[in-house]
Amino acid sequence: MRHSLTLLAASLMLATGSICAKDAPTTIPASAVQTAEQLRDKALHDDTAYKVVEGLTTEVGARLAGGVNDERGRDWMVAKFKALGFDKVYTEPVSYPLWVRRSEHGAIVAPFAQPLTLTALGYSPATPRGGLTAEVVQFASLDALKAADPASVKGKIVYIGERMQRHKDGLDYGRIGSPIRVQGPVIAQAKGAAGYLLRSAGTDANDRTPHTGVTGFTDPAKAIPAAALPNPDADQLERVLAYGKPVTVKLDLDCGIEGQYTGANVIGEITGSKYPDQVIAIGGHLDSWDLGTGAIDDGAGVAIAVGAAKVIHDLPQRPDRTIRVIAFANEEMGLWGGRAYAEKHASEVSKFQLGTESDFGAGPVWRMTASVKPEARGAIAQIAKVLAPIGVSYDAKKPGGGGSDLSQMHGKGMAALTLVQDGTHYFDWHHTPNDTLDKIDPKELAQNVAVYAVFSYMAAQADGDFGSAPGAFAHDGAED
Ligand SMILES: [Zn+2]
Repeated sequence: MRHSLTLLAASLMLATGSICAKDAPTTIPASAVQTAEQLRDKALHDDTAYKVVEGLTTEVGARLAGGVNDERGRDWMVAKFKALGFDKVYTEPVSYPLWVRRSEHGAIVAPFAQPLTLTALGYSPATPRGGLTAEVVQFASLDALKAADPASVKGKIVYIGERMQRHKDGLDYGRIGSPIRVQGPVIAQAKGAAGYLLRSAGTDANDRTPHTGVTGFTDPAKAIPAAALPNPDADQLERVLAYGKPVTVKLDLDCGIEGQYTGANVIGEITGSKYPDQVIAIGGHLDSWDLGTGAIDDGAGVAIAVGAAKVIHDLPQRPDRTIRVIAFANEEMGLWGGRAYAEKHASEVSKFQLGTESDFGAGPVWRMTASVKPEARGAIAQIAKVLAPIGVSYDAKKPGGGGSDLSQMHGKGMAALTLVQDGTHYFDWHHTPNDTLDKIDPKELAQNVAVYAVFSYMAAQADGDFGSAPGAFAHDGAED
């Protein structure tokens, strides 16, 4: 009896000991902080990232998922990782429905006949041969459409004209633009609409450049032709509607889903010297829309991650943990690359030290938020201290989300940051022919590289982890 009590006491002590070890605060050694400061200052003057996005947008150009440039983009990325000296370069397959765009035309038929400039939305089906001609019914907002009597919608082309305003954090995209584009067509279809038009989800005032983007259609049998008007054409349509007469519009879209396509996530690694199987995951998405050259969305994101890994690669010694750069496949049509990645790697989530993805253009990072275990808050504060001199504030109260594709690994339990960029002008150009290299300021891009290099390196050298574990952050209400 006494013997087993001793054993019990011993095992209790062991258990207490292990709890103490688990709860020890994660810290970043002073030497790593010093190296991170040097990396930050070096990255501010490093042009690797700019050369990556310049090369990608010049030598490959637009990279519509599954389109003619998809494979060229992947080959280019593999070659670039190798040329920059990454230790390990590989791909992981990603399958998704192949959506193609061939042609798109629109016109007001009555009462004042005239052409409209527009662009089809991702997953929009084609209109019937000869086009779809129907009366337009206008709604002021998505909520107004939701509340509408289906009888008022049936057989008509639904139009929503709510306008986005510029915000540093892109607030109106999540609040207005994205829901109207993603959910609007699905709601209109369910109410019996024949087609769908929206004022583009964008903040440019008077360019005749419509903004494409994906819709929420998941079943081709329940999809209707859907397109975006640029602001001047949306204004024109609204002036015509204001006459109070029935307005008829013709849509002639040749686009749609044509079977399945298998692309790939392209991955490059700087292998850790001490814990090679523990990774810091950073990246962007390699695909883009087809209208521009995919510079800000998301050549910049890929370039930032590559540039950050490259300055770490060039240190005299490899970091303790692996820096993994993921160029994701087909983010644009529904996070296909990110979801495939999270499915494949969910069981290893505890090995993911910390991660986040850049997918909000090339404006400077101004705020950091984090979803980490409480014992790692001090390490995040150490990172924040190195980032403060380059304009990044740390909001300890908000969760991090990991960015677009890596939000999926965060959902599985990966500790994640959100590095918020200045997106004041991002939605002027997002998903339009204006998404081109000239929108990227090399200095601002380099600031992003510095931020990614600092946090990646400090996380790689940390004594302790950031709390990644299966389902660890299921209820933190991440922003992304
Ligand atoms: Zn993007």
